[in-house]
Amino acid sequence: MATAYDIVDHDYDVIVLGAGGGGLRATLGMASTGLKTACISKVFPTRSHTTAAQGGIAAALGNIMEDDWHWHMYDTVAGSVWLGDQDAIAYLCHEAIPSVVELEHMGVPFSRTEDGRIYQRKFGGHTTHCAEGEMAARACAAADRTGHAVLHTLYQQCLKHKAQFFIEYFAIDLLMDEDGACCGLLAFSLEDGTLHRFRAKQTVLATGGCGRVFESCTSAHTCTGDGNAMALRAGVPLQDMEFVQFHPTGLVGSGCLITEGARGEGGYLTNGDGDRFMPKYAPHEKDLASRDIVSHAEGVEMREGRGCGEDGDHILLHLEEIDDEVLESKLPGIIETVRIFLNIDIRKEPIPVVPTAHYCMGGIPTNIHGEVVNPRLGGPNATVPGLMAVGETACVSVHGANRLGTNSLLDIIVFGRAAALRAAEIIDPDSDTPSSPKDCEEKILERFDALRHNATGGNPGQVRAGMQKIMQNHFGVFRKQDSMQEGIDMLEEMSGQIADIGVTSPDLTWNMELVTALEVQNLCQQASVLAQSAMVRTESRGAHIRDDHEERDDENWLKHTVAWSEAGRVDIDFRPVRLDTGRDDAKTFPPTERKI
Ligand SMILES: Cc1cc2nc3c(=O)[nH]c(=O)nc-3n(C[C@H](O)[C@H](O)[C@H](O)COP(=O)(O)OP(=O)(O)OC[C@H]3O[C@@H](n4cnc5c(N)ncnc54)[C@H](O)[C@@H]3O)c2cc1C
Repeated sequence: MATAYDIVDHDYDVIVLGAGGGGLRATLGMASTGLKTACISKVFPTRSHTTAAQGGIAAALGNIMEDDWHWHMYDTVAGSVWLGDQDAIAYLCHEAIPSVVELEHMGVPFSRTEDGRIYQRKFGGHTTHCAEGEMAARACAAADRTGHAVLHTLYQQCLKHKAQFFIEYFAIDLLMDEDGACCGLLAFSLEDGTLHRFRAKQTVLATGGCGRVFESCTSAHTCTGDGNAMALRAGVPLQDMEFVQFHPTGLVGSGCLITEGARGEGGYLTNGDGDRFMPKYAPHEKDLASRDIVSHAEGVEMREGRGCGEDGDHILLHLEEIDDEVLESKLPGIIETVRIFLNIDIRKEPIPVVPTAHYCMGGIPTNIHGEVVNPRLGGPNATVPGLMAVGETACVSVHGANRLGTNSLLDIIVFGRAAALRAAEIIDPDSDTPSSPKDCEEKILERFDALRHNATGGNPGQVRAGMQKIMQNHFGVFRKQDSMQEGIDMLEEMSGQIADIGVTSPDLTWNMELVTALEVQNLCQQASVLAQSAMVRTESRGAHIRDDHEERDDENWLKHTVAWSEAGRVDIDFRPVRLDTGRDDAKTFPPTERKI
């Protein structure tokens, strides 16, 4: 029996969990249509990971050179290695243009061209004329602080529309009724330790990615995929979790990101022999090939003994030849980051970089309206009543096996808005809010109590470090059967430790050890799903590169994995990829050989 907590009740039309770009865009859309909306976040909204996004947001505006949203669509489909759903990709690329213009009108301070239009730079995998023309300048940028600019503007707009915020509240789990519908969630306030029951007609998960499953990653310490784990515990599967993007230019040591925009402005990579190696792997795009291709190329160079430095364990990124004025106006954050972390002046010296875990293509399956899909509720496209997901936690899927740079800021804006449009359509403000399912609540509190009162349990930080090492070593850029099996066995050996995580004090006020413990359990649940999904997919596609199955296999593997996790067991099934766009103004791009 769980502790009898005094729980504070709240009633809303919609609650949005997460105040990154995805959550704020959804909150803004819902609040501005008059729905009673609350946004809950474990960190202050403008500290969400979106603030770290550097390079830009994609839209075929054609401000610098000719462009067309169909070319953007082609690049995204090819970049996804045909695993993205083409109805979602068509929607993304078509809506990109009005969405970015809308952001500009809201006040995002984009960098400008000489004639005052939004500045756009080149980015990996973005081409013109469906990879027949030159690289496209499609990334709309606010210097190298685009996410920061977008996030601050959205937060201001949410305040203007009087959305309510519950800041520094940690969500524990979803409230699910017996029929599998979501009725809200249970959270606690970090500041005063009170428990809160948020009941709502729609709950939107916008909790971001789970980069912290890996030892070296570019994402914030808060990117623990809490929403993914909450979905798993609510009986909802995660889709395509084997696809994790490794960014080719993470700083050696810290893993901090050096935006691809640095190569977009003219930077290039060399190996230990001082050679530019990318033309060998991607003769057309060279250093601006897609991230999976560049990270793989770096891995091969290092593995074959052509890495840089004494241990041959990194690659060099050269920005010294770029004009100082361009560096100072277009990449000021990079100058600062590299100086702070490595004491290197990028105007004079190259930067040591390595492939670093950056983005989870997988997540909670949704349709293009942000509604969560659970095939167990009645077919591959069956939706979960009352539950939506947007942003990095969701898998719509527009990124498939590999995300193109600048398509994620776009994803969170476009689908945050789509979820709001849908909510306005389906929510009746005059209807009753669902009541809270008591059994489910009891189960959530029992798990919470078990952690809270386990003073002799294992240290969450140590468990996390052990898990992250396994994931880094066995599920990194290169994967193969024996090594992955070894990783899965090691994760299983750790299962006792994971279940026995504890905290030294049961105090609920600013108990960051308790927060870490909850996050670590969330991470570990996702690690097992990621590992099993990677093991099952016996092909190489996009970011999932297997040494023992080097070819892409469309005949058997042009499908999504969907994985449920129950009582520590991962159960995997499949969903078809949607190849038709479902609209007259965009044709399907059938699977062919990948050119970019
Ligand atoms: C360093 C870096 C640079 C990037 N650069 C670019 C770029 O230039 N262009 C691009 O397109 N993409 C870029 N990306 C990717 C992109 O920024 C992210 O995918 C995107 O911003 C994720 O947004 P989100 O709204 O889904 O989640 P986030 O911004 O991560 O927000 C998650 C929110 O959920 C809340 N939350 C999570 N769990 C809980 C819980 N249990 N209780 C309460 N609240 C919770 C958090 O408080 C937070 O508010 C970059 C990513 C990184 C890491």
